[in-house]
Amino acid sequence: MTARILVVDDVMANVKLMEARLSAEYFDVVTATSGRDALAVCERAECDIVLLDVMMPEMDGFEVCRRLKSNPNTQHIPVVMVTALDQPSDRVTGLSVGADDFLTKPVSDVALIARVRSLVRLKMMTDELRMRAITTRDIGIENPARDAIADTGRNGHVLIVDDRRSSYQRLQDSLSKEQQVDVESDPNEALFRAAEGGYDLMIVSLGLENFDALRLCSQVRSLDRTRTMPVLAVAEAEDNARLMRGLEIGINDYLIRPIDKNELLARVRTQVRKKRYTEKLRDNVQLSIEMAITDVLTSLHNRRYMESHLATLVEQANARGKPLTLLILDIDFFKSINDTYGHDAGDDVLREFALRLKKSIRGIDLACRYGGEEFVVVMPDTDMTVAAMVAERLRRRIASEPFKIAQGDKSVTISIGIAALGPDDTPANVLKRADQALYRAKHEGRNRVVADAA
Ligand code: GH3
Ligand code: MG
Ligand code: MG
Repeated sequence: MTARILVVDDVMANVKLMEARLSAEYFDVVTATSGRDALAVCERAECDIVLLDVMMPEMDGFEVCRRLKSNPNTQHIPVVMVTALDQPSDRVTGLSVGADDFLTKPVSDVALIARVRSLVRLKMMTDELRMRAITTRDIGIENPARDAIADTGRNGHVLIVDDRRSSYQRLQDSLSKEQQVDVESDPNEALFRAAEGGYDLMIVSLGLENFDALRLCSQVRSLDRTRTMPVLAVAEAEDNARLMRGLEIGINDYLIRPIDKNELLARVRTQVRKKRYTEKLRDNVQLSIEMAITDVLTSLHNRRYMESHLATLVEQANARGKPLTLLILDIDFFKSINDTYGHDAGDDVLREFALRLKKSIRGIDLACRYGGEEFVVVMPDTDMTVAAMVAERLRRRIASEPFKIAQGDKSVTISIGIAALGPDDTPANVLKRADQALYRAKHEGRNRVVADAA
C-alpha cells in the first residue's frame, strides 16, 4: 500500500519530522509550508491524504480544509487536522469544515500510522468506486457506486462490546444520535452477535474484565461472516503495547480514554463508510461479472460465455468418453414479426421464447442467446436420440401455444439443428455441423428439427 501524503505545517522542523516518520513506513511524502501551496498540490491531484496543521499564518488549517471540501476536484481527499492538545474546540471547528480525522500534537507514532493507514484504505476504495461510477456512467448504466461516494457514514449499525456499564452507556449516548447502536455486555456472546447482526462496525473495549479483547478481535478477523466488519478499539493510555498488537491483528482504528465525543463520531463515520464501500465494491464486481456473461434482454448466458464454457464441456466429454450434443435454434420469419408488429413485440417474443426454452431443459444444460434470434443449447451426457426428443418437444412447445404480444396472440415457430460431439471433435466443428443442420431445417420448410448425419 503506497500512498502519497501531503504534510502541511508552517514550521519546517515539524514538516521534516513527520516526513521522516511517514517515509520510514514507506509512504511517499510531499510537503507544503503554507495553506496556499497545499491547495495547489491538492488541485493538481498530487496527493492521497492531507495532514494539515491548524495554526498557520495567513491561511489557517480550517480555511484550507473548508476550501478543499467545497471544491469538487478536491473534496474526496481525506483531511487529517493536526490540533493542539489544549484546544478541544479545534475539533469541533475541524468537523464543521469537513475534516475526516484528527491528530493531537505531540503526535505519537502509533496514532500517526494508524490514522494514515486507515484513511489510505478508505481513499483507495473511494477512488476505485469513483472510477467505476465514471465508466458505467459513460456506457449509460445506473450505478450504486455514485450513492456510495455521497455516503456520510451516518445511520450505520454499530455493536458495542463492553462489560462496564458506565463506559458503554457513555459511548451509546454519544453515538445514538447518528448511528443505530446495540450493546453486548457479555464478551462470550459478542462473536455470535456480530456474526448474526450484519453490523457495519464493532467497538470493543480493550479493557474487558474477564475476557481477552484481542482474542475477540482476532476471532472476528478469522470468521467468514465478520471478516469484513471493521473493529474500533477503545483503550487506556497505558495500553499502548496491546494496542500495537491489536493493530497488527487487524483492528482498524482506536480511541484513547477519556474519549472526545467529536473524535468518536468522526472515527465511527469513517469506519461505517469504509464498510459500506467494501460492500458496494463487492456487489459491483459481482454485477460486472454477471453483466459480462449475461444477455440483458433474455437473462440467458451470452455468446461469449457459451463459447468459453463450451470449450470446457467438450474437454470434459472427450476426457470421460461421454456424449455431448448441441442444438442451434432459430426463430422462423422473425424479421416479419418486427416488421409487422414493431421491435418491442419482437423483444417480447424473444423474452417469452427464452422462458419456454429454460423450462424445457435440465439445470446442467447450458442455454445461451447466440445472436439476434438464434439460441444455442449445450447438453452434456446426452446422446443424439435424447437430444432429438428434447428438441422436438421444444419445437412443439413453441408452435402449439401462441405468444402474447401487445397486439394480441402471435403464433411462432422455430427450426432446430442438432450435432453430436464426435471423437476428437472441436467446439467449432460441432457448432458448424449444428448450423449446417439448422440450414437444412430452414431449407426443408422450417418449424422442424434436423439432426446432423455424422
Ligand atoms: P428465418 O426464418 O430464415 O430465420 O428468417 P428470419 O426473419 O427469422 O431471419 P433473419 O436473420 O432474416 O432476421 C432476423 C431478424 O432478427 C433481423 C433482426 O432485425 C432481428 N433481431 C435481431 N436481434 C433482435 C432483437 O434483439 N430484438 C428484436 N426485436 N429483433 C431482433
Ligand atoms: Mg430466424
Ligand atoms: Mg437468423
